[in-house]
Amino acid sequence: MRITIQQKARGRWLNLTLLTFIISLTAFAQQAAAQQTQADNTYLEAAVLWQQSSGERRALSYQSFALARMLLDRDPRANRRSKMKRAIIVDVDDTVLDNSAFEAWMIKNNRPYEAQSWTEWCNRAAATSVPGAVEFLRYVNSRGVRVFYITNRKLVEKDGTATNLKKVGFPEVTEETLLVRTDPKSSSKEPRRLSISSRYRVVLLMGDDLNDFAEVFETSKTVSTRIDATERNRAQFGTRFIVLPNPMYGHWEDAIYGEGKMTAAEKAEKRRNALRE
Ligand SMILES: [Mg+2]
Repeated sequence: MRITIQQKARGRWLNLTLLTFIISLTAFAQQAAAQQTQADNTYLEAAVLWQQSSGERRALSYQSFALARMLLDRDPRANRRSKMKRAIIVDVDDTVLDNSAFEAWMIKNNRPYEAQSWTEWCNRAAATSVPGAVEFLRYVNSRGVRVFYITNRKLVEKDGTATNLKKVGFPEVTEETLLVRTDPKSSSKEPRRLSISSRYRVVLLMGDDLNDFAEVFETSKTVSTRIDATERNRAQFGTRFIVLPNPMYGHWEDAIYGEGKMTAAEKAEKRRNALRE
């Protein structure tokens, strides 16, 4: 078959177009990769270093679980008149599972928080336990008190979470006790807390975020309303609510940013503006 001059020219043109397309695609991919590495997590470094390297964090953690054990032991045993079995409610992330390695990965790889990488982390089931958490929950379990894990990890992360919790030694991780977020429209833990308190006498709640304790905190979204809500509920801390330290992330940080999407630079400005001299 003979190839005409026109066909040759068309072939060359097609090759050139294809080449241009590939070059543009490569440039686009490089640009996307560059954008992906733009997250500046420098401000996070001190928080993650403290969480991972300080004896103080470890000590605070032991202190929290020691207090929890004292409260459980002092609790007027099943209240005699009350037929309700006792339970405690714990949050998962940075209350019983330590996610500081994920935060460290974000810093080292200049990555922002992304749902996909978070799900991958959850499903790797690689988190360690928070110091003192396994021993405490095993103790709770040995006393015949139920343990419920309420987390805002999603359904797609549930199996990985259960595997992780069991792998590091947590007791009573079952379909009934591990309550993930199932409502895509709401992250509130209140309905899950209520479903437990309708069947059990909840002795203690433990968390690293005020939203782990009561609805009043979930609806207080600004720095000042969160502080006001904490003041109004002061008597509950150390008696019914026990807070674990987490300077790495949380609703305390969201409160600084306020509503709406913003750029990293805008967030940095909000943080700077929130500092008081
Ligand atoms: Mg948490």
